Amino acid sequence: MAIYSSLPFRSLMGVEIDHKYGGTGSSFFSTIIVVEELAKVDPAVTVVCDIQNTLINNLIQQLGTEEQKQKYLPRLAKDMVGSFCLSEPHSGSDAFALKTVAQPKGDTYSITGSKMWISSADLAGVYLVMANVDPSAGYRGITCFIVDRDTPGLSVGKKESKLGIKASSTCMVHFDDVKVNSSQILGEVGKGYKYAAGWLNEGRIGIGAQMVGLAQGCLNATIPYTLDRTQFGKKIFSFQSMQHQISKVATQIECARLLVYNAARLKEANQPFIKEAAMSKYYASEVAAYTTSKCIEWMGGVGFTEDFPQEKFYRDCKIGSIYEGTSNIQLSTIAKFIEKEYSA
Ligand SMILES: Cc1cc2nc3c(=O)[nH]c(=O)nc-3n(C[C@H](O)[C@H](O)[C@H](O)COP(=O)(O)OP(=O)(O)OC[C@H]3O[C@@H](n4cnc5c(N)ncnc54)[C@H](O)[C@@H]3O)c2cc1C
Repeated sequence: MAIYSSLPFRSLMGVEIDHKYGGTGSSFFSTIIVVEELAKVDPAVTVVCDIQNTLINNLIQQLGTEEQKQKYLPRLAKDMVGSFCLSEPHSGSDAFALKTVAQPKGDTYSITGSKMWISSADLAGVYLVMANVDPSAGYRGITCFIVDRDTPGLSVGKKESKLGIKASSTCMVHFDDVKVNSSQILGEVGKGYKYAAGWLNEGRIGIGAQMVGLAQGCLNATIPYTLDRTQFGKKIFSFQSMQHQISKVATQIECARLLVYNAARLKEANQPFIKEAAMSKYYASEVAAYTTSKCIEWMGGVGFTEDFPQEKFYRDCKIGSIYEGTSNIQLSTIAKFIEKEYSA
């Protein structure tokens, strides 16, 4: 793709990071294209790139102090992975019911608690951690901390054994009296819930792009087989029932792509985009699930083996309806906007 083919590979981890911090200085839309293109080949590797660009880099670049930006952005653009630590064993969809606390003691905070399902946790050099500095204030106590990997008391659990996206590690991260200075707070005290919700809305467009790329990659790997494989003396692609199914899937992928691009376009133009982001993630994950299932069917028996990539795409796509807000949560978000529009 012309948009990024001239960039060095390392720039893919710092697409929107400003040039002065060693990043590519490009746009959110470029991040979306990068995620889509990577997912055509490996949706698991895409997770590392997606979270880094849409959550970690952007949070630090938008909210960080100059000192924080100078310390982290050049490394994130070059050779350091970051992890986003929000979910916990008892708070997933209800993310702001989190129990991790950051107890203030003078100019330091002591973080205690456990985060679950943290992508790239075993590789990360830095963690953005949502912890509550004042549980009596409820979600208004949630604050975002930048925590370095080597901080005493921080430990990473074993990698979860998963259905798909296996090349993307998922681990628990434990905080046992992890002491951080107030200079490690990202943004303002008590605004963590706002930051997390806001950035996850953007992140959802990234997951939509991941699912579009995944679906397209699976289709790309399948069509040549249908053009080559002969049954009843004809290429299987030539059967009208095959053509109609393939055309339907190709159309659905294009619809999902346009939903993703539209949400990205609105976000870049500072227009409301939350409903569109939820629609794009929800629909793209549905399309990816349908596409990969159909591609396996069109390959016949070989599609069911591990010798071809379709079964991996089929397993990898399931996560699209779970992380960064499940499909139910996306549908509830969309419903809120519909209710508002029709009640006005
Ligand atoms: C591979 C992987 C990587 C992840 N990476 C990260 C990461 O890097 N950082 C991070 O912080 N988190 C991460 N997560 C966590 C992920 O965001 C959560 O798993 C997700 O938000 C769902 O939470 P849960 O698993 O607790 O499910 P639950 O919230 O328990 O949901 C279970 C079911 O109940 C439904 N449900 C819940 N509430 C409602 C409701 N109000 N209305 C309707 N239905 C509802 C859900 O839709 C779902 O079907 C990751 C998860 C996975 C599996």
